[in-house]
Amino acid sequence: MVDIPTLLGYSAVVLLLIAVLLGAVRPTGRRIAWFAAPFAAGAIGCAFLVHPSAFPGKAGLHLGAFFISLAFAFGWQAVRAFFGHNARWGWLLLPSLAWLAAAFVWFDRLGMEALNATLRIGLVALYTGLPAYQLLREQDPGLPSRRSLGMVFLVASALAVLALPFTVWLPQPLGAAPAETWAVVFFNAQILIEVLLASALVVAMSKERAAQQLYEASIRDPLSNLYNRRFLEDRKAAWQRGDRSNGRSRALIYFDIDHFKRINDRLGHAIGDQVIVLAARVAEDSLRKKDWVFRLGGEEFLCVLPDVDHAGAVEAAERLRAAFEQAARTVGDEPVNATLSAGVAAGTSGNPDFDALLAVADDHLYAAKQSGRNRVVG
Ligand code: GH3
Ligand code: MG
Ligand code: MG
Repeated sequence: MVDIPTLLGYSAVVLLLIAVLLGAVRPTGRRIAWFAAPFAAGAIGCAFLVHPSAFPGKAGLHLGAFFISLAFAFGWQAVRAFFGHNARWGWLLLPSLAWLAAAFVWFDRLGMEALNATLRIGLVALYTGLPAYQLLREQDPGLPSRRSLGMVFLVASALAVLALPFTVWLPQPLGAAPAETWAVVFFNAQILIEVLLASALVVAMSKERAAQQLYEASIRDPLSNLYNRRFLEDRKAAWQRGDRSNGRSRALIYFDIDHFKRINDRLGHAIGDQVIVLAARVAEDSLRKKDWVFRLGGEEFLCVLPDVDHAGAVEAAERLRAAFEQAARTVGDEPVNATLSAGVAAGTSGNPDFDALLAVADDHLYAAKQSGRNRVVG
């Protein structure tokens, strides 16, 4: 049978190696420090526990348990950092420091071993419960591993909570009774499984996040940051399939900046680009949050308005046209006086054929151009 110090020594070395590995591989970029931190703290904690008698009194045991509870706290912060939250140093350090102070000052003197162990395990329950809450609460459909990682933390937290009423009888490190090899083996195995699962899921989540960012970049136009034609094709397929998640009826506003070639020729391509960006912002600002705005190319845009009837769509298009006329009087101190023309088409009910609707909007845009520009035809 392997003795306890050997087990703990192995744990310390393995955790240290993982910390170094994570520091070298950097799976999540700049915030890597937070992914290495739990392993580094865990390694220090296990190192203290290898020969606690080398330290005066119970200092070795207390410091070991302190660093292990910090490892759990840093694990929580690693999850927070993944979602872009900064460290809350008070919440990270104070509970463990308070426990450490109480362990030195009161628990030893008063022989409150059970209370000591209960609080220590309570900290584990807290610092595995917090990331479970964080992960299961985030709304992020592009990160399927997020739920699994949340469940790993939830199970860890539940195990700690279950152990709480039995701390008097459970051997260390599970409770307050004298350490037994099976308890150390159990504790180590549990931590190892949690750490392996959590590491794998964190790497999976990083990959999912990268894929999400690539997809997000592939569906947007870099100049205006509006959706591009590629994404319109995706959406169109969904709408044709009868996806009702974005409304039952739909109206289209197809608009094009007037005499844009002249603006380019007169003021240069850079000002032309600014006019395109301005049109994009005006379209987004004058429509609702649930409306979709696409840049189809050049100075042509398509707005898709769910749950709007024909009159409502014409009204929205007119609002957009007027707002652009106002906003585009001057661009970058240049008198530009740009305007736009728009064609509107609305699907009456059910699931109107998108391309048929688009053809109608296109005809109406053409009519708006023919009849003098700077107007809406519905
Ligand atoms: P109309 O009123 O009939 O729409 O006239 P127009 O001059 O706007 O017509 P047209 O669609 O022929 O002109 C579009 C011009 O937009 C031609 C092209 O050089 C320019 N263009 C296309 N993409 C960009 C871009 O990204 N930036 C800039 N600055 N110009 C672009
Ligand atoms: Mg044009
Ligand atoms: Mg055009």
